[in-house]
Amino acid sequence: MISPRLARLVEHLAPAKVQALIVSGLPNVRYLTGFTGSNALLLVTSEEAVLFTDGRYKTQAAQEAQGVKVLVARGAVVRALMGSVKRRRLRRLAFERNRATFDLYRTLREGLAGCWLKPLSSLLEKLRAVKDAPEIAALRRSVELNSRVFEAALPRLRPGRRETDVAAEIEHLMRRKGGQGPAFDTIVAAGQRSALPHARPTHNLLRKNDLVLLDHGVILDGYASDMTRTVALGNLDSDRRRLYGAVLEAQLAAIAVVRAGIPARQVDQQARSVLEKHGLKESFVHSTGHGVGLEIHERPRLGRGERTRLQAGMVVTIEPGAYVEGLGGVRIEDMVLVTANGCEVLTRTPKDLRVL
Ligand code: ZN
Ligand code: ZN
Repeated sequence: MISPRLARLVEHLAPAKVQALIVSGLPNVRYLTGFTGSNALLLVTSEEAVLFTDGRYKTQAAQEAQGVKVLVARGAVVRALMGSVKRRRLRRLAFERNRATFDLYRTLREGLAGCWLKPLSSLLEKLRAVKDAPEIAALRRSVELNSRVFEAALPRLRPGRRETDVAAEIEHLMRRKGGQGPAFDTIVAAGQRSALPHARPTHNLLRKNDLVLLDHGVILDGYASDMTRTVALGNLDSDRRRLYGAVLEAQLAAIAVVRAGIPARQVDQQARSVLEKHGLKESFVHSTGHGVGLEIHERPRLGRGERTRLQAGMVVTIEPGAYVEGLGGVRIEDMVLVTANGCEVLTRTPKDLRVL
């Protein structure tokens, strides 16, 4: 029996005028089958799906893969797939243009000389943008775990500690509390370094009265979380308090406009207009948010020019920031679930300025 996710994908084959899709993006293979190995191709036709992997994954594939036939290749996985294509006499095939390597394309081109190979862009990524119930449940668990990690890490933020110490401890806490690891390299940026939107932790010491920006996410059951909080290590001057207040106002205003049906860029516009009102237009140098799921950056992007409309079931981050050289930076990031009439903020960690 074909799974609901595969069934939704199959509906797109005939309109694309193809008989099958070759899925090579590993997160897409996982989404469709549950298989988490590092070497796989999936052939999807309207009747069936066949997962090709190598001998290392024989047992794992049998345990994990649901609703698909598993074929363990003796040699290269792509050769086994091409053999299956020929046996099934498939002539019109799509492949994932945004996932296939040039090598994979060239091998298919040469090995399936009589076939029409159609590049399809982001078909699965578009389907994955709207989360189903098990995914939403997994994302909730991941978000909750990430918030617990944050609370456990706060007492470790003290003057004299290095950014790298704090980052290492956060990632240690992730695993100790049951996560599979960080969803991306943890960001800890203190003092003036908080003005670098994507700072890497350094041996820079945390100092009294610093702003400290923490951006981290955990992977739990395959699903990523993503949260940023900016905290104060003692008293902040009025300029940095104002900066914090402006970013929080922008973040709340952006959350307030989220609902199914609006274009994603409208959320970004909302955050941007609040920051502009505070004279911080030039200080907000990235998009307002992004989808999150099996991967840390998924569709839709909440940025300028993004025409995609939000749909119920999308899970996105809302993370405006303002970065002022010489003063510091503030970013506040939550994950929200888009609903028909608004959104549910999944991240429960408080957002009032925390003074440690
Ligand atoms: Zn983040
Ligand atoms: Zn993010």
